[in-house]
Amino acid sequence: MACGVLSISFDFEMAWGTRRNARDLNHAQGVERVREVVRGLLESFARHRISATWATVGQLMLKPEDCPSGRFPKQLPAPRPDWFTGDWYDGIPSMTEPRGLRYYAPELVEAIVNCPVHQELASHTFSHVVIGEDACTREVARAEFDTCREVAQRWGREVRSLVFPRNKVGHLDVLRETGHTCFRGPNSEWFLLGTAANPIKNRLLHRLTYNLVRVLRFLDESLVICPPLGKARRVEGLWELPHSMFFPGCTGLSKFVPRESQVQRATKGMQKAARLGRIFSLYTHPHNFLPDVPEQLAAFEQICIAAARMRDAGEIEIKTMEEIAHDLSAGRNLHWAA
Ligand SMILES: [Zn+2]
Repeated sequence: MACGVLSISFDFEMAWGTRRNARDLNHAQGVERVREVVRGLLESFARHRISATWATVGQLMLKPEDCPSGRFPKQLPAPRPDWFTGDWYDGIPSMTEPRGLRYYAPELVEAIVNCPVHQELASHTFSHVVIGEDACTREVARAEFDTCREVAQRWGREVRSLVFPRNKVGHLDVLRETGHTCFRGPNSEWFLLGTAANPIKNRLLHRLTYNLVRVLRFLDESLVICPPLGKARRVEGLWELPHSMFFPGCTGLSKFVPRESQVQRATKGMQKAARLGRIFSLYTHPHNFLPDVPEQLAAFEQICIAAARMRDAGEIEIKTMEEIAHDLSAGRNLHWAA
């Protein structure tokens, strides 16, 4: 029988993903606690022999010896998106400042690379540039892809997979030219009403749709609707891997949804993947486990237990993004692809 597959990926970015203003020095207070989350997740993965993909911002991978003055010495071309106030690299603390704990995490990258069960170190660009925006030139995209790969090599890892910041896909030819084989595609849940693929430009309409999506998302999570199971697609010489489910945190309306419902949604997705021989792709950010870290880790552990049980029963495989792309390129498990 055609086997289904579970792919777990993390967008690992700490303070990099929520910057809007170069001058805001209080930005992302508390994100330092992501250390507890990453260590807890790695313990779960080691316990249940689960490999995941860690799409990591390259700056988090920098070691003290890469930054003799406390900051990365190489000057990269900076993007100029209209939503960002100031210059892209201004306001980044040095590694030795207390605030540096929100922007650098070599000890966590070391824990990922040395986990007793293989974990994939993947790219989330070097400094969380939104590659799929007009403000991102080819030159910026190339520097972001290349530099992230370069710093990962200093950890002995060859980066092959990438998750686009904000899941906004762009410059795929550059992605292929810089040695990548796959990326995770845009969100495809019904309650997004197609806005992930076709963003609404009109401000008022955007606001209204945003609020409607929040309510529909809440309904989807509360009613435990099975997440979508897409297929992998070949795009510009790369594998676009589907997106199924975001494991939400305890913020927004999701805090009113019991954790068990999130576990049930993931379990339904895995069961359907097993039945149909499809990919179930689960993603989240480690910072989404804040502030109730033990509760969130306990819920995620339940998903790991269910996944390991299904894997041991031969119902699903558990693979990293790189492994799925490698299988497909080698002509194996082609039922996962369109
Ligand atoms: Zn991100």
